[in-house]
Amino acid sequence: MTAANGHYDVAIIGGGPGGTTVGTLLRKYDPALRILILEKEKFPRDHIGESQLPPISVVLDEMGCWDKVEAANFPIKVGATFRWGSNPELWDFEFLPLKDFADEPRPARYEGQRKQTAFQVDRSIYDQILLQHAEEKGCEVREETPVARIEHEGDRITGLTLENGQTVTARYYIDASGYSGIVRRALGVRSEVPTTLLNVAFWDYWENAEWAVRIGVGGTRIQIMSQAAGWIWFIPLGPTRTSIGFVCPGEFYKKSGKTPEALYQQMISGEERVAALTRNATRTGHVRSTKDWSFVAERAYGENWFLVGEAAGFADPILSAGLTLTHTGGRELAYTILELNRGGHDPAWLKDQYDYWQRKRVRQHIRFADFWYAANGQFTELKEHCQSIAQEAGLKLTPASAWRWLAQGGFSNDVVGQAGIGGFDLTGAKQIMQLFTAREAKWELSDFNVLKLDLNRATEGWIPLYHDGKITRARCYHRGEYRLAVTGMFELLLRCLDQSADISAIYQLLLNTFQAKATAKHVPVLMKHAMQCLEVMINEGWVTAKLDPRKPRLELSTPSESVMVHPNRDQIGPAATA
Ligand SMILES: Cc1cc2nc3c(=O)[nH]c(=O)nc-3n(C[C@H](O)[C@H](O)[C@H](O)COP(=O)(O)OP(=O)(O)OC[C@H]3O[C@@H](n4cnc5c(N)ncnc54)[C@H](O)[C@@H]3O)c2cc1C
Repeated sequence: MTAANGHYDVAIIGGGPGGTTVGTLLRKYDPALRILILEKEKFPRDHIGESQLPPISVVLDEMGCWDKVEAANFPIKVGATFRWGSNPELWDFEFLPLKDFADEPRPARYEGQRKQTAFQVDRSIYDQILLQHAEEKGCEVREETPVARIEHEGDRITGLTLENGQTVTARYYIDASGYSGIVRRALGVRSEVPTTLLNVAFWDYWENAEWAVRIGVGGTRIQIMSQAAGWIWFIPLGPTRTSIGFVCPGEFYKKSGKTPEALYQQMISGEERVAALTRNATRTGHVRSTKDWSFVAERAYGENWFLVGEAAGFADPILSAGLTLTHTGGRELAYTILELNRGGHDPAWLKDQYDYWQRKRVRQHIRFADFWYAANGQFTELKEHCQSIAQEAGLKLTPASAWRWLAQGGFSNDVVGQAGIGGFDLTGAKQIMQLFTAREAKWELSDFNVLKLDLNRATEGWIPLYHDGKITRARCYHRGEYRLAVTGMFELLLRCLDQSADISAIYQLLLNTFQAKATAKHVPVLMKHAMQCLEVMINEGWVTAKLDPRKPRLELSTPSESVMVHPNRDQIGPAATA
């Protein structure tokens, strides 16, 4: 909806996924809002950030555009194949058991197995679909309209001056300008850099590279291949187009004395799997490059403005998490503004919660990325660099201490009420720990059998739950950086811990509860989820665990191979299928 007087409810700078998620969801839940999206480029335009994770699909569905993205026929991402860890053997991570992945025709609907998959997107097409969708939903979109200056009085933005000299005013301003972070910079918001990971990336687009594997109709795994001094991504973006990039420390690139083209060629041709997949392929011949320095903004909001997506923070691309953080953050920001408009919640609480969860998630992803780099034995030319990442981060590479270190960032931030990080559930994250350290990753839950709730010095508060365009509050406990949501599985565990400290009794209480309300097939899934959440409660200090030698213990172990994380068995070649 156009504002006749040039004054809008919300002015969004940037028409990438962050901006379009906020704009579309604002209009979906409040069609009266006047939303302006200002985009400096003319779409379609190329952009990096192509490999998605399944939580994005939930947001696309809520935005009402999952079907449009599916219709673009992007490859379905069912997981990734890695050369990464203590030995050079390839291993796969999959979002769902492949034996259950049926050959469904496409375009499909957002249901069944597709709820567990993601897309590998050509951003020039993807971002255009999302921008057009936002426009169809009633956002006013102006392309080729760079914002030149942020006018402000102290922390309050008073208007945007466009490069064409016009001025735009709004009640709320959103910085969705990605790496530029135009509002962040104009208002002097500092960035934390909680890592020594300072990487650079070089990439190009290829025609007719073979896919490493074809899974069902249109499905595949992306390939992440470590090399001695960095890693290569191989991401099919369509039937014939593939993005292939190389990431290495900025220092390594500088010292190499090579041009981006020479370094790129050397790295791609030196990786035998990628070289095999590209033997009949051609490149555009134009190597793109960027810094990919992880950071978190010191705050994600001000008096009448918010940062979203990459403007608020960035975590190294090894986890393919940037777009997931962006879409999820965009959704939460839309809900926050809707509630600010409704006036039903304390505005300071709404803004603080938005700020807390965005920055906490980015920080924890950076922490996880630090671990990936520090623990990768395949970086044979970067040994000192990896040691210094570990040292600076205070990370020791044994499974137990690495796990404690990772737990400091929290495992319950990605999705409230669940335990995991970066697309891995807790078991998957422990398997990664095992793969990288070549030692068993144990469970506290099987070492101890007396569990006591410890809410000492914890204060009670509220966390937001985002559903159906509304924010509701759930009780939570705060202690330091941690929040324990009194909702979902954690609420049930709190009730069980109230009734008994004995692990066998707690286990039985959980089993009885699930058997009473779930199907027989679903009970083991719920039990696994419950054990993961209980382990997180121990890791985050909500439960103190002791061993009583007279009592039985649970026997939990981390499998070296599971349906989700297992050795790779693909045969490279034109007819390769899984
Ligand atoms: C090397 C690398 C690899 C990556 N790989 C992945 C990956 O595999 N998976 C993943 O999920 N993420 C990945 N990412 C991260 C991903 O690219 C970002 O998370 C994502 O693009 C952020 O979306 P956004 O909407 O915040 O910003 P952007 O997508 O950057 O959109 C910002 C928009 O703002 C516009 N803009 C900027 N300044 C102005 C202005 N002054 N006026 C008007 N418009 C403006 C820009 O033109 C742009 O269209 C990667 C990042 C890098 C650097």
